[in-house]
Amino acid sequence: MGIKILQAVVELEAKLKAILEEVQELKRYASALEQQNEQLRAKLYAQQEHGKAYENLAKLYEEGFHVCHAHFGRFRSQEEDCLFCLSFLRKNQKEPAEKRE
Ligand SMILES: [Zn+2]
Repeated sequence: MGIKILQAVVELEAKLKAILEEVQELKRYASALEQQNEQLRAKLYAQQEHGKAYENLAKLYEEGFHVCHAHFGRFRSQEEDCLFCLSFLRKNQKEPAEKRE
C-alpha cells in the first residue's frame, strides 16, 4: 500500500514536471509570437509612413488587418468591418497624397 502511494506520487511528480515544461515551451512560443507581431506592426507602420499610403492601407484592410489608429496592424475579424478603419480609409481617400493630373 505504502509503496503504491509512493509510486503514484512519483508518477504524479513526473507528469507535473512534463506539464511545467510544456508551459515553459508555450511561454517561449507566446513571447516569440508577440515579438514577431511587434516587428510586423512596426514594419506595417513604416510602410504606411512611406508613400502610397492609401493603397497600402486599403490592401491591408482587405487582407484582414486593422489600419485604424487604435488597433493598427492587428488581425481583424473578416466578417465584420471596423468602423474606425472605414472612416480612416474614407478620410484618406478624400485627400490623396499625390495627384497625377
Ligand atoms: Zn480598425
